[in-house]
Amino acid sequence: MEYKRIKKSHTSVIHRIVMENHLGRKLKKTEIVHHNDGNKQNNNIKNLTLLKSRKKHNKLHTSKYCPKGHKFTKNNTLFHDNKNGKPSRRCRECHRKEQEKRNHNKLILSKIKQ
Ligand SMILES: [Zn+2]
Ligand SMILES: [Zn+2]
Repeated sequence: MEYKRIKKSHTSVIHRIVMENHLGRKLKKTEIVHHNDGNKQNNNIKNLTLLKSRKKHNKLHTSKYCPKGHKFTKNNTLFHDNKNGKPSRRCRECHRKEQEKRNHNKLILSKIKQ
């Protein structure tokens, strides 16, 4: 079940193209590009990790730790449906930090505008 879900969530090709540009070569079919923050719209190279196989990728998604190393405890796990209606798992700690960063950027922007 888990496997199918992951497979489908990586049907978009933009992140693969970004990674190919970054590496300067074509990706192998076996290679998987993973979104570190779980946000499939975030195709910034900093948010992408190249994995050699689906197996490794699968492991990452079912691992007890987020890519940043926070543990997926009950309290630290956010489940939400993405745009395709597929549930996905997010690290609360990372989510919170991201939110802070976003708010911070907004603050800076509003100061510039004034
Ligand atoms: Zn992934
Ligand atoms: Zn985390």
